[in-house]
Amino acid sequence: MTTRNWHETARSLTLPTQAVIGGRRVEARSGKSFTSINPATGEALAEVTEGGAVDIDLAVASARASFESGSWSRRPPAQRKTVMLRLAELMRAEMAALSAMESLDMGKLVRDASGNDVPAAINILQWHAEEADKVYDEMAPLPEGNIGMIRRVPLGVVGAVVPWNFPLNMAVWKCAPALAAGNSVVLKPAEQSPFTAIRLAELALEAGLPEGVLNVVPGFGETAGQALGRHMDVDCLAFTGSTAVGKLFLRYAGETNMKQVWLECGGKSPVIVFPDCQDLEAAADQVASGIFYNQGQVCSASSRLFVHESIEKAFLDLLLKRIPGYLPGDPLDTRSGLGAMVDANHARNVMRFIEEGGKGATLVTGGKTTSVNGKGSFIEPTIFADVRPDATIARDEIFGPVLSVIRFREEDEAIRMANDSIYGLAASIFTDDLSRAHRVSSRLNAGVVAVNVVDPVSPAVPFGGFKQSGSGRDLSRHAIEKYTALKTTWVRYRT
Ligand code: NAP
Ligand code: MG
Repeated sequence: MTTRNWHETARSLTLPTQAVIGGRRVEARSGKSFTSINPATGEALAEVTEGGAVDIDLAVASARASFESGSWSRRPPAQRKTVMLRLAELMRAEMAALSAMESLDMGKLVRDASGNDVPAAINILQWHAEEADKVYDEMAPLPEGNIGMIRRVPLGVVGAVVPWNFPLNMAVWKCAPALAAGNSVVLKPAEQSPFTAIRLAELALEAGLPEGVLNVVPGFGETAGQALGRHMDVDCLAFTGSTAVGKLFLRYAGETNMKQVWLECGGKSPVIVFPDCQDLEAAADQVASGIFYNQGQVCSASSRLFVHESIEKAFLDLLLKRIPGYLPGDPLDTRSGLGAMVDANHARNVMRFIEEGGKGATLVTGGKTTSVNGKGSFIEPTIFADVRPDATIARDEIFGPVLSVIRFREEDEAIRMANDSIYGLAASIFTDDLSRAHRVSSRLNAGVVAVNVVDPVSPAVPFGGFKQSGSGRDLSRHAIEKYTALKTTWVRYRT
């Protein structure tokens, strides 16, 4: 589609703004709403229902009632698959609208939303739908006269609280495996990006998902999010977001009903470029997109570049050549290289890191905020060189288009610095030495290690981190483990 088409699509959108509870679109009991802002223009997009504790209560009650009724939880798995595949088809038919919504809502490039993010979310939904009737149970090896059935059963009510950086994906990564397993779900999207999550619930009803099985309550973290985290009738809470808030969810569970908590939290992912890497051009493409995609607002963004001193200058030159492809512009313009930061507040936080970083390191490019057509919150793609490994910009998650470059001499030194982080989400290395590829990747402390590529994602491969990057895995056949419990049934028969 052309830029003009995207502007037309965006203008003609009907933005979904109400909570979906028990199969109905509803306002908050308090009557409150909040304004959703387009960060690329600073203009208001819509008034969105602001759900609070009472609305979360209603949503959990309808999720529980649907679960107990068996309308979904006891539905034959093949039928659950059919409904979820129908939902994927409805989403595919609305791909342009969903892409425009994501772009308007949180400032991402519509080119990325339509070319990557939204199709990926649909594929992931479809992948988990297909899984619904392919989960086999086990039998324990017991003596004759005994049967030990080990079944994977749904947990009941799953709460999900997600961030704004990939709104539809984060919703689908949680909801799809939870629904495939037969659970009922209450989802709270991020306050900055509620639209596609609400639309997901609306389309799910159209696809035939029974009422109350997928409830979406937009609202704020401290109120609606906390109410879900502390709810006594929620069996499991799946969270993606910052490490600080992830820790709160552990507390909420500990202080209430010990619900299971699964966390996908922050990262400060290293990428190590070794001098034996043959194709530095390809490596530079990957490193640039690894930090600038989605304005660097990616949990697994490769924000720390460790480059061997012998190629540092050459590699920095290659990165600089790629900067013109990442210049901020109107997110609906298909030629723009970088979209808007999610909101003015977050842009200010990122700028604080840049100002601080400027003191102890060399600013190679970028470092400034900018506007597009005189509006919005945009930040230039920024690279710092000569960064000390103990500097704040080398340690803290910035969640913006800011790359910290650190040189190394020895392989061991690179591994040690890469692992010296409270996070352990992802890591990448570039090398053409097969032994080094295996040796280094086995020593990197990260849930996902990639060789000669940065941040690959597939529904078939688990995603998630070590250390303070969280617990549990999204995607792949392992995701469903989070939303099921092992249930053993003993049977004794006469021999
Ligand atoms: P965030 O502030 O932690 O928010 C995430 C979600 O938690 C939002 O829905 C938020 O609601 C809610 N929340 C905030 N405070 C809460 C509280 N006191 N109690 C309950 N819920 C609360 O994170 P973010 O700024 O939206 O997203 C960026 C972070 O997400 C980064 O750290 C990034 O690394 C992480 N992330 C991780 C992954 C992964 O898979 N590992 C993927 C994407 C992002 P509000 O919207 O109202 O604040
Ligand atoms: Mg918004």
